[in-house]
Amino acid sequence: MAFSPLVDELVESLRCLPGVGQKTAQRMAFHLLERGRSGGSRLASALDQAMSGVRRCDCCQNFSDTEICQICENPERQTGTLCVVESPSDLLAIEQAGDYKAGYFVLMGHLSPIDGVGPEEIGIERLLKRVHEEGIAELILATNPTVEGEATAHYIADRLDGRNILITRLAHGIPVGGELGYVDGFTLTHAFRGRKPLSE
Ligand SMILES: [Zn+2]
Repeated sequence: MAFSPLVDELVESLRCLPGVGQKTAQRMAFHLLERGRSGGSRLASALDQAMSGVRRCDCCQNFSDTEICQICENPERQTGTLCVVESPSDLLAIEQAGDYKAGYFVLMGHLSPIDGVGPEEIGIERLLKRVHEEGIAELILATNPTVEGEATAHYIADRLDGRNILITRLAHGIPVGGELGYVDGFTLTHAFRGRKPLSE
């Protein structure tokens, strides 16, 4: 039943969000109209500005308001190392952990031939160019430990075969404070393969 073209349009628009179906979109729209008008206006303005103002950094491909993002532009970041991640949220997680101080390259996805995503779509040529031009000594392939993430990491490593670059992969394993009995077999196998001497 339609009682307002404006409400209908709002509900339809909200459905572009991931995981939001008809019912949830209706609930959100009614909430904003009933009790959240100022929040709704702020959301509309933020959406409008972000959709027209956010671009991809020319250097690392991450979202940025400017041609070069704040991380790439920061003179205090270490050079010579690059960390390759699949998404901006992966980059944020590493930044929040606080230990890594060098640069990034954000693929915005992973290789997925079945979906038509090849090396060109995720910027591998741009990454290789950067590795070459910036004289990168270590490339950390922090793609996800999924089939696609592993395949993407191996593809990049293969493309850099024969160059004098240390290529590393994040260790996968038991969460800190975790118990072996609750860890799945895949994780446990990775943890075994990535074991280190006790002194490290
Ligand atoms: Zn950047």
